[in-house]
Amino acid sequence: MAEYDVDLFVIGAGSGGVRAARVAAAHGARVMIAEEFRVGGTCVIRGCVPKKLLVYASRFKDHFDDAAGFGWTLTGASFDWRKLVAAKENEISRLSAIYRSNLSKAGVAVVDGRAIIEDAHRVRLMADDRKSSAKIILISTGGAPVLEPDIPGREYAITSNEVFDLPSLPKRMLIVGGGYIAVEFASIFARFGTEILLAVRGENVLRGFDDDLRSGVRDGLVHAGVKLHFGTQPVRIEKTAAGIHVSLTKGESLDVEQVMLATGRRPNTAGLGLEKVGVELDHIGAVKVDAFSKTNIESIYAVGDVTNRVALTPVAIREGHAFADTVFGGKPEAVVHSGIPTAVFSTPELGTVGLTETEARAMFDCVDIYMANFRPLKATLSGRAEMMLMKIVVDGATDRVLGVHILGEDASEMAQILGIAVKLGAKKADFDATMALHPTSAEELVTLRTRTARYEREIPGPEGPDSGALGEG
Ligand code: FAD
Ligand code: NDP
Repeated sequence: MAEYDVDLFVIGAGSGGVRAARVAAAHGARVMIAEEFRVGGTCVIRGCVPKKLLVYASRFKDHFDDAAGFGWTLTGASFDWRKLVAAKENEISRLSAIYRSNLSKAGVAVVDGRAIIEDAHRVRLMADDRKSSAKIILISTGGAPVLEPDIPGREYAITSNEVFDLPSLPKRMLIVGGGYIAVEFASIFARFGTEILLAVRGENVLRGFDDDLRSGVRDGLVHAGVKLHFGTQPVRIEKTAAGIHVSLTKGESLDVEQVMLATGRRPNTAGLGLEKVGVELDHIGAVKVDAFSKTNIESIYAVGDVTNRVALTPVAIREGHAFADTVFGGKPEAVVHSGIPTAVFSTPELGTVGLTETEARAMFDCVDIYMANFRPLKATLSGRAEMMLMKIVVDGATDRVLGVHILGEDASEMAQILGIAVKLGAKKADFDATMALHPTSAEELVTLRTRTARYEREIPGPEGPDSGALGEG
């Protein structure tokens, strides 16, 4: 008789867990996976996929506006939120069913319900209190939105979990936060006709992204009619007969129909039995792992958002795959978490890979910047005051491209392809040697010859303290 019920027990059937389960099964492991909500996880059910569907829906507003410049006359266009929610629900249900069937086809047993860890080799299935033993346990429980800041009345606010299924389109909504989710949903709902107020505690949106692109995204939000409140956040939320009353720092107050908190996510580790088993967590409750996703307990691994490395779907998938190859396939792989392309699906959208100008200048002695800011061809007839921004960050000493940052239509698609060039260590000279494809916006990336700026770190003299001093050329 086998020593354990299964070789691998996966807790959480999201991006990372599903990939790990399928690949481990393909390597011959006996695998069971538990899911407490819907198979597919955040990305499929209430993250990337439905979000992108909403982005597409919202951009029809711009397409309709632009059409007149190309000779079209459109009459009677109107938007039905409930129809969109129903169509979205159909699609995510279809995808969830495909995920489930792919797991079954791979021979993975799916358990609907919550699972918690009993000890280093046993999990408890909460639905029927059954225990199952496993040689290896994988924690892939993802993350959840935080209800922060911790202020009176925050329970009246919604998060990204609820926003996809609102029964009706709010007339006026306050979104709190300036990160990916706040910016994307402000951009989406403003186009559906909701009056959006965005409260950001910093002085601009998207901290950590390239500063020139951040400003471009901010201007895009203003252009879409979003009312920006920087350097502020709510201090109290109250329910009123008419809706919701929000008091902000600086003594301001607002009356809105909905408040959405988009102030980050935390790893789902509470109540999972981790303290009992002694799995080490970091200061925000994320599972600590080594380069092979192993925790401090020999038989317990973790992948995806629950480890708070880089909280993106392709990263969770790659970590899940690498874990299965390492543990069950005899092919150890440590996932590299640098040079990951990413996009913010605002309109205009932001696509980026590699180091920002600020990061590069902190790490390299000589940094060259090539930047173009131009009006795309489509905007000439549409009349849209739209600009496209492209920025290449280069190591001045070796000519290697350290980062590429794009704002404008299809920036996400470009960032994905540019990820290959940056990964390969392409030089700026390789970009220059590449033939342009005309007429495109992307051709600017290979025709950008004039350096916009060079930043050189001064070499400190014997008595010179200014190691961070920069000269601009
Ligand atoms: P998840 O996909 O969250 O899966 C974890 C699963 O575990 C869940 O299904 C949960 O129900 C289940 N679970 C938790 N605890 C238990 C338990 N005890 N027992 C059983 N099951 C349990 N990333 C991108 O790359 N691109 C995007 O455009 C993008 N957009 C996003 C938009 C939004 C609104 C959000 C919220 C996220 C977005 N992300 C995006 C991030 C992406 O969704 C996550 O990085 C990704 O889903 C992480 O995968 P995971 O497997 O770690 O966790
Ligand atoms: P982010 O970390 O991107 O942004 C959080 C925002 O909330 C920041 O502006 C932050 O400000 C602010 N904030 C944090 N705490 C508080 C507080 N107590 N009071 C007021 N403001 C606060 O988180 P999101 O929730 O937007 O998204 C979570 C993650 O999901 C992302 O980091 C990303 O990994 C993933 N995601 C990816 C997407 C994509 O790939 N397109 C889309 C959506 C999500 P400050 O900057 O000052 O800290």
